[in-house]
Amino acid sequence: MAVTDRIYVENHRRLAAQLEASFPKSAFAGATLDVLFTGDGIAKLDDAARDRVLSFAEDFLDCDCQAHPHCGHPEEKFVGYLLALRARGLGPEAIVDVMGDDYMLYAYPGDVLSFLDDAVRTLEAAERLAAVEDRADRRAEIRRYRQDLIG
Ligand SMILES: [Zn+2]
Repeated sequence: MAVTDRIYVENHRRLAAQLEASFPKSAFAGATLDVLFTGDGIAKLDDAARDRVLSFAEDFLDCDCQAHPHCGHPEEKFVGYLLALRARGLGPEAIVDVMGDDYMLYAYPGDVLSFLDDAVRTLEAAERLAAVEDRADRRAEIRRYRQDLIG
């Protein structure tokens, strides 16, 4: 299960009531992207919610793909956002706090932690592959990136 399947909308019930529409709690579920983040109902949300919903749409749903917002880019960009927070030195709990402040989203710190662990393992594997292929520059680049994540 991808980490983006474990990102949830805060105050889900209140927002659904304001929109007078139902959508799943999972932020990246197809219906949530349609109803909450790209729907016509944004104007019905209270100010605080509207600001964050718009920020999310601007930051992650800004591509022009035909399949938008179901093209996979929102999820990719959000993964990049999580990794950037980690590279700034934030731990799982702080990352969850920041995504709440930024976008009114939440996740369980344990899920964020296992995502970060997986990311580090993926980079370790890529680093080994670069070593086997004798690509020293690539290897050094991956190592720097990995060290940022380890903190
Ligand atoms: Zn796209």
